[in-house]
Parts: sequence; structure tokens; C-alpha cells
Amino acid sequence: MAMEYSRFGEAPEVWEPRTVEEAWLLRRKFGETAIYVSGGTLIRTQWENETRRVGDHLISLANIAELKGIVLSEGTASIGAAETLNDCKGNKALEAGCPIMAKAIGGIAAPSIRHLATIGGNIGSLIGDAIPALLALDAELLVYQEHGRRRLALREWLEGAGGARWQDDLVIRVLVKTKQAGDESFAFYEKVGRRESFTPSLATVAGAGTVDENGELKEVRLSAGGGAAIPHRLTAAEDALNGTSLSEATLSVVHEMIKRQYAAAGDLFAGTDYRKEASANLITAQFWKLLRK
Ligand SMILES: Cc1cc2nc3c(=O)[nH]c(=O)nc-3n(C[C@H](O)[C@H](O)[C@H](O)COP(=O)(O)OP(=O)(O)OC[C@H]3O[C@@H](n4cnc5c(N)ncnc54)[C@H](O)[C@@H]3O)c2cc1C
Repeated sequence: MAMEYSRFGEAPEVWEPRTVEEAWLLRRKFGETAIYVSGGTLIRTQWENETRRVGDHLISLANIAELKGIVLSEGTASIGAAETLNDCKGNKALEAGCPIMAKAIGGIAAPSIRHLATIGGNIGSLIGDAIPALLALDAELLVYQEHGRRRLALREWLEGAGGARWQDDLVIRVLVKTKQAGDESFAFYEKVGRRESFTPSLATVAGAGTVDENGELKEVRLSAGGGAAIPHRLTAAEDALNGTSLSEATLSVVHEMIKRQYAAAGDLFAGTDYRKEASANLITAQFWKLLRK
């Protein structure tokens, strides 16, 4: 399929900045005609499907050292945005510390795609399947913005309220708390696609929290995404669960709350009602298992 170049068929100019500042300044200078390219796996598909124009300026993130490396220390994993999904998945310490993130990454595309695709690209797309897991883990981002480096919650950045997210933001690192031995917690990640594997998701959900010594739920975080929906937290259901002991009655209320709050995005393959129902079912099924334990 022909790619639509923006300047009378001319190929775009490729920039290879070496620092975060340089990359951001290029994006700021060229505005809408420029795009950050990390693994390029999503962008390429969008060009081929003609859902995105090939811009005049491609800003490669491949040579920026600050976007590289996975470091685990003091209960936090710091993952460079340019780390590939395969490198994240293959990191045993990361897998042990953030199992649901590893599960989410393992369910994205085929290994050949994951060899190029990055965690920063998954987040930068705003619809990546790693995002629900990261939201449930209360992940933070280090981003480069107008006033320099800023550390903020992924949730806040995605919601974008009050200038939390700008179009030219560059994600530098993802920061996730790792599971410590002895943590009395639960966590889950589930994705339903149109086929068994390597397929865009219809519904992706994640959750994490703690059950205290009295059997009460604490610090519950739930999220949902899938298709073109920007994943988000399901705060009404979280509030209904926090401070309570699980019961069938609570689960039925939670199911309704998820359907009401989740801003699903329908398409030709599945409408919003189907996606809401599927997400509510996936989450309540997990709590049902917890109740039966
Ligand atoms: C066959 C196939 C199957 C796929 N299956 C899945 C799937 O199951 N689940 C899923 O989530 N995705 C899927 N994808 C999409 C894609 O591979 C992943 O989302 C991947 O993680 C994107 O990473 P990338 O480095 O290739 O991003 P790119 O394509 O380089 O960029 C994606 C977007 O993020 C922006 N971006 C990149 N890096 C940054 C950064 N550091 N800061 C700010 N913005 C940035 C880009 O400007 C662009 O808008 C699939 C793709 C293909 C081709």
C-alpha cells in the first residue's frame, strides 16, 4: 500500500539526536510535522494502514543513552523507554519483581515484533497493552517537557489534566515498584483478543491490591483498556472494594460500577457495551477466585 508522504512524495528527514533535550527541541521546532520513532513497529503499521501520515521529520530515539538500561534498586525498577519488550521480558529480576508487567509484555505481538518494539513506544502510543498493568502497579514516568525533566504518575500523565501531558512529551524512563518478599498482595492481568495470540486486544484489564489480616481489601487499583481506548483506572470500583471484605453482593456492585465507569472505545469488531461487559467479567472473575480461596 502506498505511504502518503507529506511533501510531494519526498522521503522524510531522519534526525538522530544524542540527548533527550535535543530530541525534544527537534519535536518542538518541527511541531506536528515531526514524530518520535522508537522501534517504529506501531508507526509503520499506521503508515501501511494509512491511518497516519508519514511526517516530514522522523526523530529516532535509538542513540539516546538516557533512554537505555533496566536498573532495579531499593524496591523500584527503572526501565529506559528505549528498552525493547523482549529485553524487558527477558530480565529475570524484572519478571520476579513485576510479574503482571512481564505477563502483559509477553502477550504483546510476536517475538519478532517484540525484538524491535519498546516499552516507551507502547506507552507513547497511549493505547499499548502494557499500560493497564503499569496503572495497576501505580507506575510513574520520567518525562521531558517544556520545563525539563518531570517525574509524575503514569495515571496523571495519561489523564493529561492541568498540563500533565503535552504532545511533544518525551518519555524517558518508566518507574515501577517491585514486589517485596512477604508482601500480602494480589495482582492480575488479563487480555482478550479477537484471536488466541498476536492480536489487538478487545479488553485488557489489570488489578493489584492487598488483603489485610482481617480479610479487608486495601490499596486496590483496577484498570481497563483495549482497542483505541486510552487505559484508565476504575476508581469507583476501587472505592467500593477498599476497606471491605469480599462478598458476592460486593462483586455484583463492582461489576456494575466497572461497566458504568469504563470509557471503552468500540469499533467494527466489538461495540462499547461488549467491551465494558467483557472488562467487568474479567475483573470480577479474578475477585471471585480470591473470594473462593
Ligand atoms: C503485528 C503487530 C502486532 C501488535 N500487537 C500489539 C499488541 O498485542 N499489543 C500492543 O500494545 N501493541 C501491539 N502492537 C503495536 C506495537 O508493536 C507496540 O505497541 C509497541 O510497544 C510500540 O513500540 P515501538 O517502539 O515500536 O513504538 P513506535 O512505533 O516507535 O512509536 C509508537 C508511538 O509512540 C511514540 N513514542 C515512541 N517512543 C516514545 C517516547 N520515548 N516518548 C514519547 N512518545 C514515544 C511515537 O511517536 C508513536 O506515536 C503490534 C504491532 C504489530 C506490527
